[in-house]
Amino acid sequence: MIAPVVRFAPSPTGRIHIGNARTALFNWLFAKRSGGRFVLRFDDTDLERSREEFAQSIAVDLNWLGIQPDLIVRQSQRFALYDAAAQKLKEAGLLYPCYETADELDRRRKRQIARGQPPVYDRAALNLTQADHERLQAEGRKPHWRFKLESKTIEWVDLVRGPSHIDCASLSDPVLIREDGTYLYTLPSVVDDIDMGITHVIRGEDHVTNTAVQIQLFETLSGAGKAPQFGHHNLLASSTGEGLSKRSGALSITGLREAGIESLAVAALAVLTGSSDSVHAITSLDALMGTFDLGHVSRNSAKFDPAELDSLSARTLHALDVEAVRPRLAELGLTGSDLAPFWLAVRSNLTSLQDAKLWWDVVQGQITPVIEDSEFASAAAALLPDEPWDQQSWSQWTAKVKEETGRKGKALFHPLRLALTGQDQGPELAMLLPLIGKIKASARLHGRVS
Ligand code: GLU
Repeated sequence: MIAPVVRFAPSPTGRIHIGNARTALFNWLFAKRSGGRFVLRFDDTDLERSREEFAQSIAVDLNWLGIQPDLIVRQSQRFALYDAAAQKLKEAGLLYPCYETADELDRRRKRQIARGQPPVYDRAALNLTQADHERLQAEGRKPHWRFKLESKTIEWVDLVRGPSHIDCASLSDPVLIREDGTYLYTLPSVVDDIDMGITHVIRGEDHVTNTAVQIQLFETLSGAGKAPQFGHHNLLASSTGEGLSKRSGALSITGLREAGIESLAVAALAVLTGSSDSVHAITSLDALMGTFDLGHVSRNSAKFDPAELDSLSARTLHALDVEAVRPRLAELGLTGSDLAPFWLAVRSNLTSLQDAKLWWDVVQGQITPVIEDSEFASAAAALLPDEPWDQQSWSQWTAKVKEETGRKGKALFHPLRLALTGQDQGPELAMLLPLIGKIKASARLHGRVS
């Protein structure tokens, strides 16, 4: 089998959300699992609505998710290819000019429905004479251009949905070029898929209805049997009814990143929701690759609860090893030889990576101790064992403090925690204490900021 080439083709008219991430990751996992290539293609032929800043934010978001495209292209730089394809279709008589206004088409549709006919474009424009064209253009009308569909049933084996078909007799000839000369999405998409050698088109099921038209275009422009394979996955929907929309920015990848959610939690939720594998924390995208199978994506709706992201993100952090987070800890200013034991000590206490900073201050920086009973704290300080300390030091020390002061349970441990960390709760002190060290521990037990 030749290695797959896939594309993720967002229009840069807003920020991508977790539902778009699902499509991007499905493509990425599908291609990379088999050593294939992933193209990021900006569908930016709509020059009015497309923005470079959105294109850039989409690339940044994908990178954050762990997707590095093999190629990034912009349709706005490829108009010559679309013009050439349009010309070829016109010459073959398969792209024909029409002059009906939206109003006229609407009235025609209503009449058809009233007569019990399917509201399909009647191809009246194909009967126009040369004189008609001249008259209409003299009236100031500009044509839009429709692709002449062959009246046949198009069949394909969908990678997700299985055997599928659409009867093209039930479709209107699609408009490929608007009257202002701009392209709708269909033609540039097919022209690029051919030019880039796309082998698999994996996208949301909102595009199923475009597939028959696109397969006809593939066959016209590049020959019978030349269409890529198609897979249409169900769309992610939030169970709380919060809509996913590029325009509203709801659950945008940028927003989730800024909220401190782990990218692997976003990826796990985006990919595993609605699959046969239940949603669980992962420590790398490779972990998803092992079990990923488009054929196992459910056809039912893929509902998720956005609140799940917080706990999944925390569980993700708890499972990551220090190498996975070292660069990000460095960005927070956390570096040095103690990083590995520090990370082991604190990770299971974090809800976001950012929180590690607080505990770093506890072991390396300064904190204000909380002393409830200075007599008890001083007595405990006097019993601190000599260094070097290890994970047994805490239990050895507290056993002595218990013996000397008669305190036990919460009355013993809680004041020590408050004094040593300034916090009510946190990571296991057995692991923190050796990192805090005797000088700081002693100073804090005596109530000094250190
Ligand atoms: N720009 C289209 C979208 O974002 C691409 C659809 C496709 O993958 O063909 O929905």
